[in-house]
Amino acid sequence: MKYRAMRGTRDILPGESEQWRYIERVFSDTAGHYGCREIRVPIFEATELFERGIGEATDIVQKEMYTFPDRKNRSLTLRPEGTASVVRAYLEHSLGRRTGAVKLYYSGPMFRYDRPGQGRYRQFHQVGVEFIGSPDPQADVETLEILIGFLGGVGLRELETRINSLGCPSCRPAYQDKLQKELQSIGSSLCGDCRTRVDRNPLRVLDCKREECRALFGNLPVMLEHLCAECDDHMRRVEENLKEIRLPYRVDPLLVRGLDYYTRTTYEVHHGGLGSQSALGGGGRYDGLVEQMGGPPTPAVGFSAGIERILLSLEEEGASPDVEKGPDVFLAAADEAGEAEALRLAHRLRRRFSVERDYRRRNLKSQMKSASGHGARFVVVLGEREIGEGAVSVKDMKSGEQTTVDLESLEGWFGRALEPGCES
Ligand code: AMP
Repeated sequence: MKYRAMRGTRDILPGESEQWRYIERVFSDTAGHYGCREIRVPIFEATELFERGIGEATDIVQKEMYTFPDRKNRSLTLRPEGTASVVRAYLEHSLGRRTGAVKLYYSGPMFRYDRPGQGRYRQFHQVGVEFIGSPDPQADVETLEILIGFLGGVGLRELETRINSLGCPSCRPAYQDKLQKELQSIGSSLCGDCRTRVDRNPLRVLDCKREECRALFGNLPVMLEHLCAECDDHMRRVEENLKEIRLPYRVDPLLVRGLDYYTRTTYEVHHGGLGSQSALGGGGRYDGLVEQMGGPPTPAVGFSAGIERILLSLEEEGASPDVEKGPDVFLAAADEAGEAEALRLAHRLRRRFSVERDYRRRNLKSQMKSASGHGARFVVVLGEREIGEGAVSVKDMKSGEQTTVDLESLEGWFGRALEPGCES
């Protein structure tokens, strides 16, 4: 075999693609119930958009972007996440013009040059929501509600919600200085990655997953204890609202995120069965991003979640959606006359039902085997005799029962059998 999918990418095969469609539908239905409308943004953008939006010092910008020059030597990047593009589109099209605040959702592939492993790919797929224009803590809570509602809606049970506050530009810098000094004093005990982060992006040190480093974090100052009065009040109201709707959560003072644009509320939803890559989704408030990208000061909050990890978690729970469905009808031809008629009959029935055939002109027995391989619900046998009599035999593949049905009234018969309750 000469060609294989590139490392970190994968094919979504028939059998899987039905599960993907199901998950995407649960997501759009859930987001739709909260008034979110879909936005589709390009897969590549000017590199600068992500550098500015995500933050120069982040891992994503430093080492994970797929960046390349186009034929006119402009630097382009395959999107590593969705928020920067959504904010660009929000500004480019003045989406907040009519209603002030907008609620959007998106889904699609993202690209990061990361080390592939369990739950980590180079092309992966996210769904996400952005509420742009509201500073209200209830907006934070509603986005988290969508994420939890969606994950619960696809069938996941073992979920854990963690929340934290990352403060704002008026309280974070002083805390960051304090944290940096403390980290410098324990610097020699930290891992190499952490040591480089101490100078560049001290908050991100807290994100280190190594046990040896985490053991040292217990005595470090945390943002939650250094919030200004406004951020403190915001966090308190978020918690009150979460309690109000009985959404279980845990405050995790070490929770930080890989993108620089977050302010105040941040959250992640984890799954017990996923090991070190346990975050199914995460997000939070990014009140400075719209302004940073050239717009007016505009508060915003949102999240994204990864479809691959959701599917892995469902498998882990033994709750993978059973959405594979065979054809409604399989048309088996008993002879030449049957073959000739099958095209016409399939054409007629396909206006309403899914119809499969064998196409290989094999004997009836092989066609019956093929019908059950496809998981067909009913098999129609069609030959010279049936055409002459104007009636076919229909086999119910579940019960094994056979019925003779007039050719003319097949649609009505299948309608009653397959869509009970529908008038045919
Ligand atoms: P992030 O944009 O880094 O906050 O990630 C949000 C979610 O996207 C994570 O919780 C994962 O479910 C998913 N995700 C992020 N990076 C990857 C990756 N390399 N492979 C698969 N899923 C990912």
